Amino acid sequence: MCPAFGAVRNLLRMEDAMPIVISSGDGCLYGHTFVAHFYVANRPIFSPGVSSEIWARGSVFDELKLMVHEMAEKHRPSIIPICSLCVSDTVGLPFDLLPKQIGNTEVIYVPLPAYSVHTHARAKDIVVDSLVWRLPPQRKTRAGVNLIGEFFPSDPIKIDEVLRRIGTHVNTTVPGPRWSDYVAMVDGALNAPLHPFYSESVKRMKMKQGLPFVDGAPVGIDGTYAWIKRVGEALKLNAATVEAVAGEERDKVVAAMADFPLHGLKFMVAGYEGHEFLLVRLLIEAGAEVPYLSTAVSANPLAREEEAWLREHGCTVLYGANFDDEIGALEDHPYDCVIGTTPLCAHAKELGIPSIYYTNAMATRSLTFAQGASEILSLMLSTYRSKARYAKIASFFSETGVPKRTHTGWAPKIDLTEHLLANQAFAPAQGVKP
Ligand code: SF4
Repeated sequence: MCPAFGAVRNLLRMEDAMPIVISSGDGCLYGHTFVAHFYVANRPIFSPGVSSEIWARGSVFDELKLMVHEMAEKHRPSIIPICSLCVSDTVGLPFDLLPKQIGNTEVIYVPLPAYSVHTHARAKDIVVDSLVWRLPPQRKTRAGVNLIGEFFPSDPIKIDEVLRRIGTHVNTTVPGPRWSDYVAMVDGALNAPLHPFYSESVKRMKMKQGLPFVDGAPVGIDGTYAWIKRVGEALKLNAATVEAVAGEERDKVVAAMADFPLHGLKFMVAGYEGHEFLLVRLLIEAGAEVPYLSTAVSANPLAREEEAWLREHGCTVLYGANFDDEIGALEDHPYDCVIGTTPLCAHAKELGIPSIYYTNAMATRSLTFAQGASEILSLMLSTYRSKARYAKIASFFSETGVPKRTHTGWAPKIDLTEHLLANQAFAPAQGVKP
């Protein structure tokens, strides 16, 4: 899928944004609109009526300006993000000449040439960067922690509860569903990127806001303790209270993990939003062996510490990994369970390895503190324990002679339905002719 869609998806999830996409009408725009409707709850993408006549007249920019004014004056959204995609015709358009604000609407340019933005992760980073760069200067009186990262919705609530016990609170969480979530950053006293993902945004936040940063997240035994301590130190909170709360939360994680031991099990993890670093930490602390983590995130300073911890615990991190790398790694070890992308899991299931999709299973669960550890580890154990069902899938594939799907397609090339019918792999419903 087009990498720029990662960004468009984040923007469409903002309730008070009306994103404009400037690209070719029949190519990118059609694809983005199509995907937006089933991924992002029927939110529309806007675009100037880009036709060959407009391209020929060279009036794309005029059409865009007219549209921005009309949308801002009629609908008054909080922001109009303008995303330019790969199309060569948009290169060189004077986006700097667009108004920055119309009434109370912020007009923000988001450059997304997908030919140079290779992953959804990078595209999302560009969105956060463009939005944060527009914020007013940091307020003089400020308090609380700005959480940066994509977590399950209950995580910021739980983090807030713990932070209040040490004398601070969650100020805001970005990316958020409203422009006001971003604007609130100017009231925060500390930035906390929870996973090594929004690296370019963080770089520019450091230039713009002048706030202290803490890395890591309250995930797992060491992570929970270290994160609470770091927040306390960065905000100069009462050291004894911070130590007591950090120790208490760490002990709760230890107790939660004891219920779901993963000793002797080998996991492979492949993810794409930096969240996967924290998941592997949790699995290793629960006793599992994770020799390999594949991530779509590129190597960046935010990942350094987490990577060092994983390496010390026997896990190699492969940055910017692709499907071929993952398939190769899958064959390197006898895995008991795989957590990964759709194609990787499909392949692992054919081999009879219990597998679970990252997005569906991990992004829909809490990861932080003791409750997060329990939720994730119980899911891991139940997935592993259903191994017999996966073995059945594998034997189905070998007994019916269904060809294996490889990264280059079906091998050998056949019509799969014809093949299954010929081998009586499934019976057609009664009265229905195949
Ligand atoms: S041309 Fe570029 S922006 Fe358009 S769909 Fe393809 S990769 Fe995405």
